[in-house]
Amino acid sequence: MKIITGIAEMKEFSHNLKKAEKKISFVPTMGKLHGGHVKLIESAKRYGETVVSIFVNPLQFGHGEDFDKYPRDIENDEKILSDLSVPVLFYPESDIVKNTGTFIVNPEYSKKLEGLFRPSHFQGVLTIVMKLFCIVEPDFAFFGLKDYQQFALIKKMAEDFFLNVKIIPVETVREESGIAMSSRNTYLDGSGKDAASAFYKILSHTAYLFKKGEKSAERLTGFAIKELIKNGFKVDYVEITDYALNKKYSDAEKGDILLAAIRYKGVRLIDNIFLS
Ligand code: AMP
Repeated sequence: MKIITGIAEMKEFSHNLKKAEKKISFVPTMGKLHGGHVKLIESAKRYGETVVSIFVNPLQFGHGEDFDKYPRDIENDEKILSDLSVPVLFYPESDIVKNTGTFIVNPEYSKKLEGLFRPSHFQGVLTIVMKLFCIVEPDFAFFGLKDYQQFALIKKMAEDFFLNVKIIPVETVREESGIAMSSRNTYLDGSGKDAASAFYKILSHTAYLFKKGEKSAERLTGFAIKELIKNGFKVDYVEITDYALNKKYSDAEKGDILLAAIRYKGVRLIDNIFLS
């Protein structure tokens, strides 16, 4: 596997792929790779020459968040990527964000859901993803549905700026217990893992109530909030909205999405489930 750390070298590599009429599939990550990332990479490989980036982006961490302790394990990540026969790892030097004077914002979407609790988060995400897109120039880029709001914002950015990249969503990969895989799961001890699996069970049960005929968004989210509190969680939000995150309905509909963020012993977890 080729490891590229320089911006000029990455650009040249991409240009050479384009000259050879190859399609570029791109999977941006923050490393500490797990089964969720693996699924993104496996999907990407079906679309073209796959470039995976690993960069813990300081711009997307708010004041007092976990940038310093965010899990990092580049050696193991390299092994996982080699085993997956990924041809290129882009592992940029930190100057990719230093001295940035221009930022990408979506004021409306960034104020909802996660944005209310992490006010500068999506500005940091969109800015780094735009930078990475400018360097890697992918034809396809893969994002996990676990971070649904992130996926929706990046898709909108690509449309708003007429970018030549197709944004492809990938289903959430879960542990057997139902917990969505996440690099931050390393923060969870045994009781945290049990709690996290209760989080998914409550979301699933709420989706089940919808399936069985309960359509009131207020009653559905009310049920979830009550159960989450009963299980010892602090609830940041539980909302039902449409796939474009545009509407809050009085009645939920098939294809809507139930999104939630909770905290347990200081660890913040997000998850979502589509209503069907
Ligand atoms: P991260 O390294 O956490 O920034 O995530 C990199 C990409 O992997 C993002 O597009 C995430 O949405 C995606 N991702 C993270 N966890 C999962 C998961 N459990 N299933 C599917 N995709 C995931």
